[in-house]
Amino acid sequence: MAAPTTPVPHAPIPLVDLAAQHAEVAAEVAEGWEKVLARTAFVGGPAVAEFEADYAAYSGVDHVVGVANGTDALELALRALGVGPGDECIVPANTFIATAEAVARAGAEVVLVDCEPGTALIDVDAALAAVTDRTRAVMPVHLYGQVADVARLKAGLPDHVAICEDAAQSQGARRDGLQAGAIGDIAGTSFYPGKNLGAYGDAGAVLTGSAELADRVRLLGAHGSPRKYEHTVVGVNSRLDALQASVLSAKLRRLDAWNTLRREAAARYDALLADLPGVTTPTVTPGNEPVWHLYVIEVDRRDEVLAHLNAHGVGAGIHYPTPVHLTGAFGHLGKTGDFPVAEATAERILSLPLYPQLTEEQQQRVVDTLRTAL
Ligand SMILES: *Cc1c(COP(=O)(O)O)cnc(C)c1O
Repeated sequence: MAAPTTPVPHAPIPLVDLAAQHAEVAAEVAEGWEKVLARTAFVGGPAVAEFEADYAAYSGVDHVVGVANGTDALELALRALGVGPGDECIVPANTFIATAEAVARAGAEVVLVDCEPGTALIDVDAALAAVTDRTRAVMPVHLYGQVADVARLKAGLPDHVAICEDAAQSQGARRDGLQAGAIGDIAGTSFYPGKNLGAYGDAGAVLTGSAELADRVRLLGAHGSPRKYEHTVVGVNSRLDALQASVLSAKLRRLDAWNTLRREAAARYDALLADLPGVTTPTVTPGNEPVWHLYVIEVDRRDEVLAHLNAHGVGAGIHYPTPVHLTGAFGHLGKTGDFPVAEATAERILSLPLYPQLTEEQQQRVVDTLRTAL
């Protein structure tokens, strides 16, 4: 007698599906890598220069300098601005740890401020209130792909304070027509594989409208060396490699189309979740055109809901579970209660699977699973 058949379980739905993305660019990546292998210009060289020019044009800035990763991009951007020991940099309390690390690595002091409820973007009033004579930069983070209010920040900041955007999650995003990474004085972005524009390893870039700042980043990232064997300042080794640049060029051609698919998927979640009690869908401020790096809802009993989703094959996550001042690394920056909005948000946020190739059927399953969890 045949054994009773068990229903075939659904395939798990990942938080991000990099295999589906690779399938779309596989042929172009292979072709690009063949070229790089034939030329053997592995670090820098024509593939990197081509990507830098294309990404500058795409981003609406005059200069893009490829570096080894997004954290380096932010550190080198700050150092190019002259940030160093004795200086303060203002950073939102809820961000990926790299924003604060970049400040610490540049030798400056991190000054945390709270975020706005709903969007979780930097609280501009709190940032302006935190400015002192020693403040050299503010770092608005375009969290989840939505652009912080850099224009209002700019209008309120004194001349001695620069704006260094953390544009790691916002490739292609705009606010009031202004493009993320092109609004402040300088910006750092990350091409970590899971970002909207992701490489096949670590990679990042600095964006700026200033030729002087771009030159300074290039100098610092290449051993402080303007010419071979000449070292004018103590730099670091942080360069974009050609294999990554050719992946990024192939994906850049699709970035707008992929961001459109992310927007469509986000709108579908909004509709599917509208009648689900206990779920707060993401807040988008007027004028913002987010690129939905992450689709982040808020729920009660978040950890239980997350465990239920994960147990049922839904790759949900938390970005980020611990505000900067409650981490071991930056615990000296505050205690529980100091940044109440960031702390309350961190306990309720839940990132649902979102990527360009996510299907309606998958989204329906995510929402059905969420319904049973609630
Ligand atoms: C990914 C990320 C970074 C750092 O980028 P890496 O390439 O991983 O070093 C910095 N800030 C934010 C907000 C990020 O999401």
